[in-house]
Amino acid sequence: MSLPESLLNLFLPKTCIVCGRSLMEKEKSICLDCLADLPYTFFSKRERNPMADRVNSLIRNSSDGFEPYTRATALFHYRPGDSYSAITRSLKYGRDFSSGRFFSSLLAARMSASPLWRDVDLVIPVPLHWTRYWSRGYNQAAVIASVLARGLGAALDCRILVRRRRTLTQTRLTTEEKALNVRGAFRLSRSGRCLSVLSAARHILLVDDVYTTGSTIEACRVALREVFPREKRISVATLGFVG
Ligand SMILES: [Zn+2]
Repeated sequence: MSLPESLLNLFLPKTCIVCGRSLMEKEKSICLDCLADLPYTFFSKRERNPMADRVNSLIRNSSDGFEPYTRATALFHYRPGDSYSAITRSLKYGRDFSSGRFFSSLLAARMSASPLWRDVDLVIPVPLHWTRYWSRGYNQAAVIASVLARGLGAALDCRILVRRRRTLTQTRLTTEEKALNVRGAFRLSRSGRCLSVLSAARHILLVDDVYTTGSTIEACRVALREVFPREKRISVATLGFVG
């Protein structure tokens, strides 16, 4: 948090990210009532779930060889227009790092309580294009990824996956347009370090803020598979799941 931000926070009352009412001292980012009603997915302990099924159907469409059933989880059901969508919106557009880290830690706690994620040893956020990174100043997926990496005791790497071209904002595109928009948009870093990091990893966790059609994550997976062998796992975690 920058100095002006921390000064502002001294004077502005903290409010619930979902309902807007003032928070009590013990509450963080969200009031206890809204936290109790958070639409959790409970995917972290279920290997087969609607998100994992969607991830795997995209893999079957694009992959020519065997790949183990891919695991996927999200913290909550994201419904556009719903007040809970502020959880990811405030991180992506509002620089709300403390809420972003708080909700990521809820997901990290769920994942570390499940054996499905125990051997994750490398966490990689979906990268932004450098021009967008420069204008926004941070990558929201990296904020989430860093909390998950710490919670799972895994390494974090924000450099081996590179977004090679700017893509259109996905929000207003159809499913087919989204897939075309991000196809081939990612590549591996050409540094020698990239190969050694990937060859040492056993189970990669790809992280984004919201999982919608899955085309962005799928394009990242395809890029990683250029060197990461099929028999090793690439799993997926996001805060929100649309579906
Ligand atoms: Zn509330």
